[in-house]
Amino acid sequence: MGMRKYLTEFSREQRGSVAVVTALLMIVLIGVSAFALDFGVYYDDASRLQNSLDSAVLAALQELPADSTSSSDWAAAENVAIAYAALNGFDISTNDIEPIYKNNIAEDGIIGLKATKSIVVEYNFAKVFGVDSGTVTRSSSAGLVPVGGLKGAVPLSITSSSLSNAIEKGVYTGLTLKCSSNTGDIGIDTTGVKGWFGALRFDGSGASTYANLLTFGYSGVLTVGQVLEMENGNMSGPTMDGFTARFNQCKDGCTATNYLPDCPKLIYVPVVEVVSASKVKIVSFATFFLDSLGGNGNDSYIKATYIEGTVVPDSASGISGADFGLYVGKLLD
Ligand SMILES: [Zn+2]
Repeated sequence: MGMRKYLTEFSREQRGSVAVVTALLMIVLIGVSAFALDFGVYYDDASRLQNSLDSAVLAALQELPADSTSSSDWAAAENVAIAYAALNGFDISTNDIEPIYKNNIAEDGIIGLKATKSIVVEYNFAKVFGVDSGTVTRSSSAGLVPVGGLKGAVPLSITSSSLSNAIEKGVYTGLTLKCSSNTGDIGIDTTGVKGWFGALRFDGSGASTYANLLTFGYSGVLTVGQVLEMENGNMSGPTMDGFTARFNQCKDGCTATNYLPDCPKLIYVPVVEVVSASKVKIVSFATFFLDSLGGNGNDSYIKATYIEGTVVPDSASGISGADFGLYVGKLLD
Protein backbone atom coordinates (compact mmCIF):
# COMPACT_ATOMS: atom_id res chain seq x y z
CA MET A 1 0.00 0.00 0.00
CA GLY A 2 1.38 3.34 -1.04
CA MET A 3 1.70 6.13 1.43
CA ARG A 4 -1.01 8.31 -0.22
CA LYS A 5 -3.54 5.47 -0.31
CA TYR A 6 -2.79 4.58 3.28
CA LEU A 7 -3.44 8.15 4.42
CA THR A 8 -6.75 8.30 2.53
CA GLU A 9 -7.92 5.04 4.14
CA PHE A 10 -6.90 6.24 7.59
CA SER A 11 -8.85 9.46 7.18
CA ARG A 12 -12.02 7.59 6.09
CA GLU A 13 -11.83 5.32 9.17
CA GLN A 14 -11.51 8.31 11.45
CA ARG A 15 -14.60 9.92 9.94
CA GLY A 16 -16.48 6.66 10.49
CA SER A 17 -15.45 6.55 14.14
CA VAL A 18 -16.60 10.12 14.72
CA ALA A 19 -20.01 9.26 13.28
CA VAL A 20 -20.32 6.22 15.55
CA VAL A 21 -19.26 8.20 18.64
CA THR A 22 -21.71 11.01 17.79
CA ALA A 23 -24.56 8.54 17.41
CA LEU A 24 -23.72 6.88 20.75
CA LEU A 25 -23.49 10.26 22.48
CA MET A 26 -26.91 11.24 21.15
CA ILE A 27 -28.48 8.07 22.47
CA VAL A 28 -26.90 8.72 25.86
CA LEU A 29 -28.07 12.35 25.81
CA ILE A 30 -31.64 11.46 24.86
CA GLY A 31 -31.59 8.76 27.51
CA VAL A 32 -30.37 11.14 30.19
CA SER A 33 -33.01 13.71 29.25
CA ALA A 34 -35.72 11.06 29.29
CA PHE A 35 -34.74 9.86 32.75
CA ALA A 36 -34.42 13.45 34.00
CA LEU A 37 -37.98 14.22 32.88
CA ASP A 38 -39.30 10.97 34.29
CA PHE A 39 -37.42 11.51 37.51
CA GLY A 40 -39.34 14.77 37.83
CA VAL A 41 -42.61 12.85 37.55
CA TYR A 42 -41.34 10.23 40.00
CA TYR A 43 -40.20 12.84 42.49
CA ASP A 44 -43.46 14.74 42.24
CA ASP A 45 -45.57 11.63 42.88
CA ALA A 46 -43.30 10.57 45.73
CA SER A 47 -43.60 13.88 47.53
CA ARG A 48 -47.38 14.00 46.99
CA LEU A 49 -47.59 10.52 48.50
CA GLN A 50 -45.38 11.55 51.45
CA ASN A 51 -47.44 14.67 52.20
CA SER A 52 -50.64 12.71 51.98
CA LEU A 53 -49.40 10.03 54.40
CA ASP A 54 -48.09 12.71 56.79
CA SER A 55 -51.46 14.45 56.98
CA ALA A 56 -53.29 11.11 57.27
CA VAL A 57 -51.31 9.85 60.28
CA LEU A 58 -51.36 13.26 61.99
CA ALA A 59 -55.13 13.49 61.63
CA ALA A 60 -55.57 9.95 62.97
CA LEU A 61 -53.86 10.92 66.24
CA GLN A 62 -57.05 12.70 67.31
CA GLU A 63 -58.52 9.22 67.98
CA LEU A 64 -55.58 8.05 70.09
CA PRO A 65 -54.45 6.83 72.57
CA ALA A 66 -56.13 3.43 72.16
CA ASP A 67 -56.01 0.38 74.41
CA SER A 68 -55.38 -2.18 71.68
CA THR A 69 -55.87 -2.90 67.99
CA SER A 70 -59.28 -4.39 68.81
CA SER A 71 -60.52 -1.17 70.44
CA SER A 72 -62.99 1.19 68.80
CA ASP A 73 -60.47 4.04 69.23
CA TRP A 74 -57.97 2.21 67.03
CA ALA A 75 -60.62 1.46 64.42
CA ALA A 76 -61.56 5.14 64.43
CA ALA A 77 -57.89 6.15 64.02
CA GLU A 78 -57.53 3.81 61.02
CA ASN A 79 -60.69 5.22 59.46
CA VAL A 80 -59.50 8.81 59.84
CA ALA A 81 -56.13 7.94 58.25
CA ILE A 82 -57.85 6.18 55.34
CA ALA A 83 -60.27 9.09 54.85
CA TYR A 84 -57.48 11.70 54.85
CA ALA A 85 -55.36 9.73 52.39
CA ALA A 86 -58.41 9.40 50.11
CA LEU A 87 -58.97 13.17 50.27
CA ASN A 88 -55.47 13.52 48.82
CA GLY A 89 -56.13 10.95 46.13
CA PHE A 90 -54.40 7.91 47.63
CA ASP A 91 -56.15 4.67 48.52
CA ILE A 92 -54.82 3.10 51.66
CA SER A 93 -56.33 0.27 53.67
CA THR A 94 -55.97 -1.10 57.19
CA ASN A 95 -53.24 -3.37 55.78
CA ASP A 96 -51.12 -0.26 55.18
CA ILE A 97 -51.45 0.97 58.77
CA GLU A 98 -49.67 -0.37 61.84
CA PRO A 99 -49.85 0.70 65.47
CA ILE A 100 -47.03 2.26 67.47
CA TYR A 101 -47.14 1.08 71.07
CA LYS A 102 -46.22 3.09 74.12
CA ASN A 103 -42.77 1.95 75.31
CA ASN A 104 -42.94 -0.53 72.37
CA ILE A 105 -45.11 -2.75 74.58
CA ALA A 106 -48.53 -3.77 73.27
CA GLU A 107 -50.03 -3.94 76.79
CA ASP A 108 -49.14 -0.28 77.36
CA GLY A 109 -51.52 0.83 74.60
CA ILE A 110 -51.27 2.54 71.23
CA ILE A 111 -49.86 6.06 71.10
CA GLY A 112 -49.17 6.39 67.38
CA LEU A 113 -49.39 4.86 63.95
CA LYS A 114 -47.35 4.26 60.82
CA ALA A 115 -48.75 4.20 57.31
CA THR A 116 -46.83 2.75 54.37
CA LYS A 117 -47.92 2.87 50.75
CA SER A 118 -46.40 1.86 47.44
CA ILE A 119 -47.61 3.33 44.18
CA VAL A 120 -46.67 2.67 40.57
CA VAL A 121 -45.43 5.67 38.60
CA GLU A 122 -46.00 5.44 34.83
CA TYR A 123 -43.01 6.74 32.86
CA ASN A 124 -43.28 8.67 29.60
CA PHE A 125 -39.86 8.93 28.03
CA ALA A 126 -38.09 6.02 29.64
CA LYS A 127 -40.52 3.74 27.76
CA VAL A 128 -38.29 4.22 24.72
CA PHE A 129 -35.73 2.19 26.61
CA GLY A 130 -38.20 -0.45 27.71
CA VAL A 131 -38.79 0.95 31.23
CA ASP A 132 -42.54 1.47 31.55
CA SER A 133 -42.96 2.24 35.24
CA GLY A 134 -41.31 2.46 38.63
CA THR A 135 -42.49 1.83 42.18
CA VAL A 136 -42.49 4.51 44.86
CA THR A 137 -42.78 3.47 48.50
CA ARG A 138 -43.22 6.02 51.23
CA SER A 139 -44.12 5.79 54.89
CA SER A 140 -45.01 8.19 57.64
CA SER A 141 -45.23 7.81 61.41
CA ALA A 142 -46.94 10.05 63.93
CA GLY A 143 -47.27 9.68 67.64
CA LEU A 144 -48.37 11.34 70.83
CA VAL A 145 -45.51 12.77 72.87
CA PRO A 146 -45.70 14.38 76.32
CA VAL A 147 -46.56 18.05 75.94
CA GLY A 148 -43.68 20.45 76.54
CA GLY A 149 -45.61 23.61 77.19
CA LEU A 150 -49.15 24.93 77.21
CA LYS A 151 -51.56 27.74 77.90
CA GLY A 152 -54.47 27.58 80.30
CA ALA A 153 -52.83 25.91 83.31
CA VAL A 154 -54.30 26.44 86.78
CA PRO A 155 -52.09 27.63 89.69
CA LEU A 156 -52.26 24.29 91.51
CA SER A 157 -49.65 21.58 91.45
CA ILE A 158 -48.84 17.97 92.05
CA THR A 159 -45.35 16.70 92.76
CA SER A 160 -43.99 14.24 90.22
CA SER A 161 -43.09 11.67 92.91
CA SER A 162 -46.63 11.77 94.35
CA LEU A 163 -48.28 11.43 90.95
CA SER A 164 -45.90 8.62 89.92
CA ASN A 165 -46.70 6.73 93.12
CA ALA A 166 -50.44 7.22 92.69
CA ILE A 167 -50.34 6.01 89.06
CA GLU A 168 -48.22 3.03 90.04
CA LYS A 169 -50.77 2.07 92.70
CA GLY A 170 -53.66 2.67 90.30
CA VAL A 171 -55.04 5.42 92.55
CA TYR A 172 -56.45 7.99 90.11
CA THR A 173 -59.18 9.60 92.19
CA GLY A 174 -59.03 11.59 95.40
CA LEU A 175 -55.68 13.17 94.56
CA THR A 176 -54.94 16.43 96.32
CA LEU A 177 -53.95 19.45 94.22
CA LYS A 178 -54.15 22.00 96.99
CA CYS A 179 -53.83 20.55 100.43
CA SER A 180 -55.13 21.55 103.80
CA SER A 181 -52.98 21.59 106.90
CA ASN A 182 -53.82 17.92 107.41
CA THR A 183 -50.93 15.69 106.46
CA GLY A 184 -51.18 12.41 104.61
CA ASP A 185 -52.96 13.67 101.50
CA ILE A 186 -52.05 11.87 98.31
CA GLY A 187 -51.01 14.48 95.81
CA ILE A 188 -49.02 17.51 96.66
CA ASP A 189 -46.02 16.59 98.78
CA THR A 190 -45.09 19.56 100.95
CA THR A 191 -42.62 17.63 103.08
CA GLY A 192 -39.86 19.92 104.23
CA VAL A 193 -41.54 23.04 102.82
CA LYS A 194 -43.07 25.28 105.44
CA GLY A 195 -46.18 27.28 104.65
CA TRP A 196 -46.80 25.85 101.18
CA PHE A 197 -50.08 24.15 100.36
CA GLY A 198 -49.58 23.46 96.66
CA ALA A 199 -50.64 26.77 95.15
CA LEU A 200 -48.36 28.34 92.54
CA ARG A 201 -47.70 31.90 91.44
CA PHE A 202 -47.73 32.43 87.65
CA ASP A 203 -48.38 36.07 87.15
CA GLY A 204 -47.87 38.38 90.09
CA SER A 205 -48.99 37.86 93.62
CA GLY A 206 -52.29 38.45 95.30
CA ALA A 207 -55.32 36.49 96.33
CA SER A 208 -57.57 37.75 93.53
CA THR A 209 -54.95 37.04 90.81
CA TYR A 210 -54.64 33.49 92.11
CA ALA A 211 -58.42 33.01 92.32
CA ASN A 212 -58.85 34.28 88.74
CA LEU A 213 -56.12 31.96 87.45
CA LEU A 214 -57.91 29.07 89.11
CA THR A 215 -61.23 30.04 87.53
CA PHE A 216 -60.07 30.87 84.01
CA GLY A 217 -56.59 29.34 83.61
CA TYR A 218 -53.37 31.16 82.76
CA SER A 219 -53.45 32.98 79.42
CA GLY A 220 -49.65 32.82 79.20
CA VAL A 221 -47.44 29.88 78.33
CA LEU A 222 -45.81 27.59 80.86
CA THR A 223 -43.03 25.26 79.72
CA VAL A 224 -41.22 22.23 81.04
CA GLY A 225 -38.07 23.31 82.90
CA GLN A 226 -39.58 26.61 84.00
CA VAL A 227 -39.08 27.53 87.67
CA LEU A 228 -42.08 29.01 89.48
CA GLU A 229 -42.62 30.69 92.82
CA MET A 230 -44.74 28.90 95.37
CA GLU A 231 -47.77 30.86 96.47
CA ASN A 232 -47.20 31.36 100.16
CA GLY A 233 -49.76 30.50 102.77
CA ASN A 234 -52.94 28.48 102.84
CA MET A 235 -54.74 30.55 100.18
CA SER A 236 -57.87 28.94 101.55
CA GLY A 237 -60.41 31.66 100.74
CA PRO A 238 -59.20 32.36 97.17
CA THR A 239 -59.02 28.60 96.56
CA MET A 240 -62.69 28.31 97.50
CA ASP A 241 -63.64 31.34 95.37
CA GLY A 242 -61.65 30.25 92.34
CA PHE A 243 -62.75 26.62 92.54
CA THR A 244 -66.44 27.45 93.01
CA ALA A 245 -66.52 29.90 90.09
CA ARG A 246 -64.81 27.37 87.82
CA PHE A 247 -66.86 24.39 89.00
CA ASN A 248 -70.11 26.27 88.38
CA GLN A 249 -69.15 27.02 84.77
CA CYS A 250 -69.98 23.41 83.98
CA LYS A 251 -73.69 23.25 83.19
CA ASP A 252 -73.72 19.67 81.93
CA GLY A 253 -73.39 17.68 85.11
CA CYS A 254 -70.06 16.23 83.98
CA THR A 255 -68.33 13.62 86.11
CA ALA A 256 -64.79 12.25 86.01
CA THR A 257 -66.00 9.26 84.01
CA ASN A 258 -68.44 11.09 81.74
CA TYR A 259 -67.57 14.64 80.66
CA LEU A 260 -67.65 16.87 77.62
CA PRO A 261 -64.19 17.42 76.06
CA ASP A 262 -64.26 21.17 76.79
CA CYS A 263 -65.67 20.89 80.32
CA PRO A 264 -64.33 23.62 82.65
CA LYS A 265 -63.88 20.96 85.34
CA LEU A 266 -60.99 19.61 83.26
CA ILE A 267 -57.79 21.38 84.27
CA TYR A 268 -54.14 21.37 83.23
CA VAL A 269 -51.88 21.14 86.26
CA PRO A 270 -48.09 21.61 86.37
CA VAL A 271 -46.31 18.48 87.61
CA VAL A 272 -43.45 19.82 89.67
CA GLU A 273 -40.33 19.10 91.68
CA VAL A 274 -39.50 21.22 94.69
CA VAL A 275 -36.16 22.93 94.06
CA SER A 276 -35.98 25.22 97.11
CA ALA A 277 -38.03 26.40 100.07
CA SER A 278 -39.90 28.81 97.80
CA LYS A 279 -39.57 27.45 94.27
CA VAL A 280 -40.65 24.53 92.12
CA LYS A 281 -39.58 23.39 88.66
CA ILE A 282 -42.10 22.16 86.07
CA VAL A 283 -41.21 18.63 84.90
CA SER A 284 -44.45 17.99 83.00
CA PHE A 285 -48.17 18.67 82.86
CA ALA A 286 -51.16 16.48 83.68
CA THR A 287 -54.90 16.71 83.13
CA PHE A 288 -57.24 16.43 86.10
CA PHE A 289 -60.98 16.49 86.60
CA LEU A 290 -62.07 18.67 89.52
CA ASP A 291 -64.03 16.48 91.93
CA SER A 292 -64.57 18.40 95.10
CA LEU A 293 -63.68 21.20 97.41
CA GLY A 294 -63.29 20.28 101.06
CA GLY A 295 -62.29 21.73 104.38
CA ASN A 296 -63.41 25.13 105.53
CA GLY A 297 -62.80 28.82 104.92
CA ASN A 298 -59.49 28.77 106.74
CA ASP A 299 -58.20 25.43 105.58
CA SER A 300 -59.68 24.28 102.25
CA TYR A 301 -58.43 21.58 99.92
CA ILE A 302 -59.12 20.42 96.36
CA LYS A 303 -59.54 16.80 95.31
CA ALA A 304 -59.33 15.76 91.70
CA THR A 305 -59.15 12.72 89.42
CA TYR A 306 -56.12 12.11 87.20
CA ILE A 307 -57.20 11.78 83.57
CA GLU A 308 -54.77 9.82 81.44
CA GLY A 309 -54.45 10.19 77.68
CA THR A 310 -55.65 13.68 76.85
CA VAL A 311 -54.33 15.55 73.83
CA VAL A 312 -53.77 19.27 73.27
CA PRO A 313 -53.82 20.61 69.68
CA ASP A 314 -50.35 22.15 69.84
CA SER A 315 -47.44 22.31 72.19
CA ALA A 316 -46.08 25.69 73.20
CA SER A 317 -42.62 24.15 73.35
CA GLY A 318 -40.61 21.61 71.40
CA ILE A 319 -39.30 20.03 74.58
CA SER A 320 -41.10 16.97 75.91
CA GLY A 321 -41.61 16.60 79.62
CA ALA A 322 -41.96 13.44 81.68
CA ASP A 323 -44.91 11.28 80.54
CA PHE A 324 -47.92 12.07 82.71
CA GLY A 325 -50.56 11.29 80.13
CA LEU A 326 -51.00 14.73 78.54
CA TYR A 327 -49.91 14.67 74.93
CA VAL A 328 -49.46 16.54 71.71
CA GLY A 329 -49.28 14.88 68.29
CA LYS A 330 -46.25 15.09 66.02
CA LEU A 331 -44.61 13.38 63.07
CA LEU A 332 -41.94 10.93 64.13
CA ASP A 333 -38.71 10.19 62.29
ZN1 LIG B 1 -68.87 19.91 82.15
